[in-house]
Amino acid sequence: MFGGDVSPESTVFGSGDPDSAVVGSVHGDEPTGVRAIHRVLEPPPTFDRPVKFVVANPPAAVAHRRYLDVDMNRVFPGDADADERERRLAAQLVAETDDCTVLSIHTTRATSDPVAFVTSEHRRTLEVVSQLPLDYVVNERPTVDSAFSSTGAVSVEVGKPERDDAIAKAEEIIRAFLRVVGAVDEPSPPTSSPAYFTTDDTIEKPGSHDSYELLVENFERVEAGTAYAKADGETLVADESFVPILVSETGYDDIFGYRGHRTADSLDGARDAWLGDG
Ligand SMILES: [Zn+2]
Repeated sequence: MFGGDVSPESTVFGSGDPDSAVVGSVHGDEPTGVRAIHRVLEPPPTFDRPVKFVVANPPAAVAHRRYLDVDMNRVFPGDADADERERRLAAQLVAETDDCTVLSIHTTRATSDPVAFVTSEHRRTLEVVSQLPLDYVVNERPTVDSAFSSTGAVSVEVGKPERDDAIAKAEEIIRAFLRVVGAVDEPSPPTSSPAYFTTDDTIEKPGSHDSYELLVENFERVEAGTAYAKADGETLVADESFVPILVSETGYDDIFGYRGHRTADSLDGARDAWLGDG
């Protein structure tokens, strides 16, 4: 069904040349984003400014697989001439969303609370993400190469895969994004402002164990000397204090997730820390 010529599927609502985009299905086994987009668009709101809605990886979405050749969220900005489909799709997605403010929707097994991932040098991205209804913004620049966020996109993990509450959160976040970029004029419910974190490293799983148990919660600081996980009953103790980010027992094969630190409690503080404003 999908030969060499796969490309992202995009639809524009509103008239003119879009300067914002909402993206789903970078990972094909995460249909939540596209389902939430459908909820937002059926029926469509009145668009004051045009918006592009994009299914990023149609062949993986149809196959309900995370990816077919390589993880698309690790190969940006992509390569239009590559053999792997996701590298070509990544290059096409970058071209499709060039000059757009971009929201990309994901799901995670790690947490039900929405978490936005950004890379810190994109000033407009920080401004937009600060106004979305979520509590955690994470700069993944230090630990992740070539994610979609490296191009300036806001990637939001809205909750657990295919859960109704995650679809509802995704819908709420997309609607907020459309208001923030001026695409729709709808009354906005008050939102609390997020806290800002930076990833420092991955948290490796010690190899060849059958069972892993986490003893800590995402975004709750772990003090040095505290046991944070068990591997087949063997206790793993923190050498230094850290904040667990997107940790889970089963989300990744090799790592529990990320260790990081709290950077700021406000947009101004995050800008000071990440962009040298002040
Ligand atoms: Zn994902």
